[in-house]
Formats: sequence, structure tokens, C-alpha cells
Amino acid sequence: MKSILIKIKEYFISSAPKPPKNACYFCKRKAADLRNYRNERNKKIKVCYLCVEYAERRAYRK
Ligand SMILES: [Zn+2]
Repeated sequence: MKSILIKIKEYFISSAPKPPKNACYFCKRKAADLRNYRNERNKKIKVCYLCVEYAERRAYRK
């Protein structure tokens, strides 16, 4: 018999939302028009129009 803690853990793992593919790097929301930037580790990231200003302020490159 499984303990209640294991059952709770399994519930959270199975119900954890997977990050959508076309999601903004900052706000994690899905957006149709994402812009490509590179972060401080030179990793490609996608930024929605609402977070572009934030990306620009952090000097992320296009
Ligand atoms: Zn965003």
C-alpha cells in the first residue's frame, strides 16, 4: 500500500503543467508573435511583445 505522501507526490507530478512550446521566456504565456532574443548565456529565447521592453532593458540582443 502506498503512503499518502507518495500519492500526493504522484498527483503533483502528473498534474504539473508542461511549458507550452510557443511561450514567452519571461511571462510563460503563449503568444503568436514572439521575438527572438539571446540572453546573457547566449541562449536563444522567445519574448512576447509585452516583455520586449524588459528584454531590451536587460540588454538582451536580437
Ligand atoms: Zn512575455
